[in-house]
Amino acid sequence: MISTLLIRVLIILFNLKGENTVVKKQFKAESKRLLDIMINSIYTHREIFLRELISNASDAIDKLYYKALTDDAIEFNKNDFYIKIDLDKDNRLLKISDKGIGMDQDELESNLGIIAKSGSLAFKKENNLKDGYDIIGQFGVGFYSAFMVSDKVTVISRPYGGDKAFKWESNGASGYSIEECEKEGVGTDIILKIKENTEDDQYDDYLEQYRIKSLVKKYSDFIRYPIKMDEKTTKLKEGTEDEYEDVFEEKTINSMVPIWRKNKNELKDEDYENFYSEKHYGFDKPLKHLHISVDGVIRYDSILFIPENTPFDYYTKEYEKGLELYSNGVLIMNKCQDLLPDYFSFVKGMVDSEDLSLNISRELLQHDRQLKFIAKNIKTKIKTELQNMLKHERDKYETFYKAFGRQIKYGIYDNYGMDKEILQDLLMFYSSTEKKMVTLDEYVERMKEDQSHIYYASGESYDRIEKLPQTELVTDKGYEILYFIDDIDEFAVRVLMNYKDKEFKSVSAGDLDLETEAEKKEKETELDESKDMFEHMKNILGEKIKAVKISKRLKNHPVCLSNEGDVSIEMEKVLQAMPNASGIKAEKVLEINSNHEIYQSLKEAFEKDKDKFDLYTKILYNQALLIEGLSVQDPVEFTNDICKIMK
Ligand code: ADP
Repeated sequence: MISTLLIRVLIILFNLKGENTVVKKQFKAESKRLLDIMINSIYTHREIFLRELISNASDAIDKLYYKALTDDAIEFNKNDFYIKIDLDKDNRLLKISDKGIGMDQDELESNLGIIAKSGSLAFKKENNLKDGYDIIGQFGVGFYSAFMVSDKVTVISRPYGGDKAFKWESNGASGYSIEECEKEGVGTDIILKIKENTEDDQYDDYLEQYRIKSLVKKYSDFIRYPIKMDEKTTKLKEGTEDEYEDVFEEKTINSMVPIWRKNKNELKDEDYENFYSEKHYGFDKPLKHLHISVDGVIRYDSILFIPENTPFDYYTKEYEKGLELYSNGVLIMNKCQDLLPDYFSFVKGMVDSEDLSLNISRELLQHDRQLKFIAKNIKTKIKTELQNMLKHERDKYETFYKAFGRQIKYGIYDNYGMDKEILQDLLMFYSSTEKKMVTLDEYVERMKEDQSHIYYASGESYDRIEKLPQTELVTDKGYEILYFIDDIDEFAVRVLMNYKDKEFKSVSAGDLDLETEAEKKEKETELDESKDMFEHMKNILGEKIKAVKISKRLKNHPVCLSNEGDVSIEMEKVLQAMPNASGIKAEKVLEINSNHEIYQSLKEAFEKDKDKFDLYTKILYNQALLIEGLSVQDPVEFTNDICKIMK
């Protein structure tokens, strides 16, 4: 049973979730800066401009298609759903056109006029990254990437339902202009004036058919709509037998089969990685991908990714979990939250199911039986995948755990421990004996015959924990100790309570109960002898501590703090550091090492010199605080006290 105090602690903790690690600063859009960075980005990343523009065109068609599917009043011609690329070598122009949803004047202004993606720049600033830093490869900056290869970008767009078209034009550096213009039919044309070659860069490449074709194949093969280009071929002139001429034929370059519909065996890691960056799932490479095709009562395809790095906003409230949701190939939701439990919120990817209704509302979707089934299925698959990784690819798993282990620990105490069974085998902690990360299962397997508990010690760093006096006795017994350095570790095991019937125990717990019978006897006698003295110490220290006790756990140190009750000293520290600190405190016990020389001095002082005794008590208490990493309430008094005994 979880105690009521612990429940109170958990309620407070739920507010901790998502409020630590990254402080978000308000950031003004610095379009010019970002453009500069982009233009100076390394050559190999420039080619992604094409992927970005094609994705935008595909999104624009998606939007119109979706509208049309869910609203009978909308007329459309399915044959219009394609993306066209035109090359004009002589004038150095590359054009990408779509007959999608289009943009009106306001949208041109707000979508292209300022950089929406200021997040990437903010990230760069917050992390003090140098200008050479590969921000493009890391983020994908959408439309603006066009300026990496162009001197001038022209956007001509007519929105669906609008009768006017507008032209947006910019050379990147000195702002942009918008004016009304002529355009037949709805949709958007993006026209790039390709830069002249420089000593280092061959911009001419982007005017070559073969190059564009290979870029489409590389990055945009899976786009659902045809990507068409006029291909030059040489043909026999009609009516002649030996005269040839150049003719242009419109050809579709991409295969159009979405990656999730393809056979797993035909796909390479690279294909999944391309999909990952094409979709902007993350700015890293995925650590792992899962390709799921379920063909049962409910059918669905899904591609899921476990990222390698923690997204910069992951542990903040801004981070939104969710998977893309498609209904039979049509995107119906960008971030479907109901598909992922919070503890797997780091997973990126998509789900496509034929069985979902297209115009289902968000509210209805929550209760949708199919969706629930898929979510449950996905949860199990992710867990199995992680377990396999832990078993067979330990290094990879440790990389994963470094990035997202904290989320798994949240999962343990979230919902009052409802999912702890699912997650406990995924936990890892640093071990005192192995000097590396170990699982609970490995710990329990190694436990000594006479050992009844799983021991842990909390602190700021492994180094500091190693030096904690409280670890001495446990280490002397030859028991392994798990080191907790994450502020939520202890909360997680408090909710877990035990693993494979072995209870967790802090080395600082008051009831550690590791003394031998002889030691216990000795302790009792000593306590009897010095009862008055301990009472006196308790009186001097007052409310600061619950009791003063003899300690047999200490070997070389004179004092330490232990705690009674549900809240440990480390937990108190975390709770105190939170906004609207709750005032919940650990019940601290000052333990004195009766085998230490100091103990004799203390006894002498108690008998002969009450002032000195008072001084010793306060100093010992403050020393115990310092060892715990707690601050001394009055440092000036403390140093004065030390000076007094030095005199
Ligand atoms: P992102 O696509 O990630 O939102 P972009 O900078 O690529 O960022 O594009 C900004 C916005 O401009 C898009 O969200 C979209 O609303 C609009 N946009 C870009 N290209 C097109 C297009 N071809 N048709 C319609 N809207 C477009």
